[in-house]
Amino acid sequence: MSSSTASRLGVPADLLQDLADANRILAHQGIVDAFGHVSLRHPERPDRFLLARNMAPALVTPDDLIEFDLDGNACHGDERKVYLERFIHAEIYRARPDVNSVVHSHSPTVVPFSVVPSARLRPVCHMCGFLRDGPPIFEIREEFGDATNLLISNREQGASLARKLGDHPAVLMRGHGSTVVADTLKLAVYRAVYTEVNAQLLSTALPLGEVVYLTDDECLATLDVHAGQIDRPWNLWKKAATEAA
Ligand code: MN
Repeated sequence: MSSSTASRLGVPADLLQDLADANRILAHQGIVDAFGHVSLRHPERPDRFLLARNMAPALVTPDDLIEFDLDGNACHGDERKVYLERFIHAEIYRARPDVNSVVHSHSPTVVPFSVVPSARLRPVCHMCGFLRDGPPIFEIREEFGDATNLLISNREQGASLARKLGDHPAVLMRGHGSTVVADTLKLAVYRAVYTEVNAQLLSTALPLGEVVYLTDDECLATLDVHAGQIDRPWNLWKKAATEAA
């Protein structure tokens, strides 16, 4: 890794490596493909965040990370090509001081739950208790009409998405994908993976008959377990992604 990137951004090199690893983990776990992204709020500048340049997540290294302000502008005169949907990250960091990491993906089993309003993505497994009563669904037509390309490509659309997210840990985006947030990078990655897992489990259960979901108290009781064991999946997923590279 280039130590100059770490000093230029004022971020410890191991944190930049973690963010690069998060990109590779999410790709290897099938949450992102050529598209999708993960960001981290700057540890010293809450009004800044770190996100890769425009590229496939599986290929991201620390030197590919760019610092952005909350208007979605690249800092330090960085002129490399950036993600169109960086406003997802910028506006969520602006609206949610408790959030330090954001994952946006099009993970395939989640998308159907964004287009069938009656099939709410409620938690069916203890690993997914953070979903509580199910993520809200962002409908871009509500504010931006029925002729958009469905992407979040400006500040206004990002702010609209952040409003729909509210204080939830996840928001589905109709016909597009989902965005999950957490107070740490590792927990955001965990939630992105297990949002997809819950969608797979629920898709399997729904045709079998009436589904029993976790109660809200059961959901709340799972939260400390996830945070307390977060290094376990992270280390496994990191090793698997590294070996596959
Ligand atoms: Mn997208």
